Amino acid sequence: MNHHDSEKVAGTLITMGYIPTENPAEADLLLLNTCNIREKANQKVFSRLGSLHESYRLKPGAKVGLLGCMAQMEGPKIFQKAPNVNLVVGSSSYSFIPELVAKVEQGVPQVIDVSQDTDRLFETYTQSRENPYKAYVTIMEGCNRFCAFCVVPYTRGPERSRRSEHILSEARQLASEGYQEIMLLGQTVNSWKDPAGGIASFADLLKRVAEIEGIHRVRFTSPHPSDFNPEIVEVIENVPQVCNQVHLPVQSGSTRVLKRMKRDYSREEYLRRVDFIKKAKREIALSTDIIVGFPGETQMDFEETLSLMQEVRYDSIFSFKYSPRPGTEAYSFEDAIPEQEKGRRLMILQEFQRKIQLERNARFVGKELEILVEGKSQRDSKDLMGRTTQNKIINFSGPPTLLGKFANVRVTNFSPNSLQGELIS
Ligand code: SAH
Ligand code: SF4
Repeated sequence: MNHHDSEKVAGTLITMGYIPTENPAEADLLLLNTCNIREKANQKVFSRLGSLHESYRLKPGAKVGLLGCMAQMEGPKIFQKAPNVNLVVGSSSYSFIPELVAKVEQGVPQVIDVSQDTDRLFETYTQSRENPYKAYVTIMEGCNRFCAFCVVPYTRGPERSRRSEHILSEARQLASEGYQEIMLLGQTVNSWKDPAGGIASFADLLKRVAEIEGIHRVRFTSPHPSDFNPEIVEVIENVPQVCNQVHLPVQSGSTRVLKRMKRDYSREEYLRRVDFIKKAKREIALSTDIIVGFPGETQMDFEETLSLMQEVRYDSIFSFKYSPRPGTEAYSFEDAIPEQEKGRRLMILQEFQRKIQLERNARFVGKELEILVEGKSQRDSKDLMGRTTQNKIINFSGPPTLLGKFANVRVTNFSPNSLQGELIS
């Protein structure tokens, strides 16, 4: 989501006449987009800001701005902590960038907007998209769920959905520009409701985007388990353009912990959703987010998370040590787990998952799979990489003319995180 916000801001600046540069030393304006979800991300920004002018060799007079959730949370305090910052823009205020940057250009030393004004939130931005084949499309912003560990409802504001006609017109525009794949974005993406009432549900929206001529793949992230219904699976089953991949964050395998996290579902309720996803006619790849060391998490709770992972056998996971965030409900919980213990649990969990992924990826060897060729392989820049509809990465050797095209490859080898293949056609 942050990545896509950067694309919106970059596009806005380009329309204002700015030219992007890879070299900070050339920049007249340097903007840092920030994350506030975990403490570590926050610390990184302040330490980077401290030495920005020296380490990036910024031009004298170059202006510095801070965007994103950290800007939203810290607000004017940023000017005190980092006096070299000229501009602070919160995560709901990007549509005001032209006015705000103009003020900075006029020499106003400290310009700030951290309002959560909603009127212009979903304005259609000129976007500078990084990938020429895959595009993000925001369909909703914010969150009303207030999970006990999470800053998002504070940093991104309340849940607000974008009108379906705006979503569809952006998707049609992307198709006409040659994009093959669209990723629908939202904090709880499946809680989307059409403010104009034209489209009945998130599942219907998914179908409507997939039916746009020229769009070959549609993905979405992240759905919340409580709003995940069989209708979404039906659309995946029946509309081939909707990728057979679901990222369904669970956070913990223990109902007791889930309750304290205020996640609104039990282990069993989550597993019921997994069950209908697994019973789908197309094999749907599943991934998740997990937090270890939430306050009060016992060894037994932790083992329940491992047993849930064993039961679901995810294709991939994002896992995190719990990070206390000021302002959230869990911040005042007194039964914190020591850092070292959180680290131990995270290592065990990641090793457990590595084995599951290795076993799961073995089944693809010898199979012929269709991929969208997306870029150079990270393993060997002479090779290319593409993704299957299940979001599996396949590295293979082939001509660069395949970039942005669909190709068929046969899987020859595997590792926990990717597959190796050979080009068939
Ligand atoms: N809306 C999504 C999650 C968005 S935040 C959902 O409800 O599933 C992305 C992930 O960051 C979360 O799924 C969670 O695993 C992790 N996360 C959020 N707050 C955290 C915290 N305080 N400490 C550690 N991980 C956190
Ligand atoms: Fe945060 Fe997701 Fe919970 Fe909303 S639903 S509070 S974004 S973890």
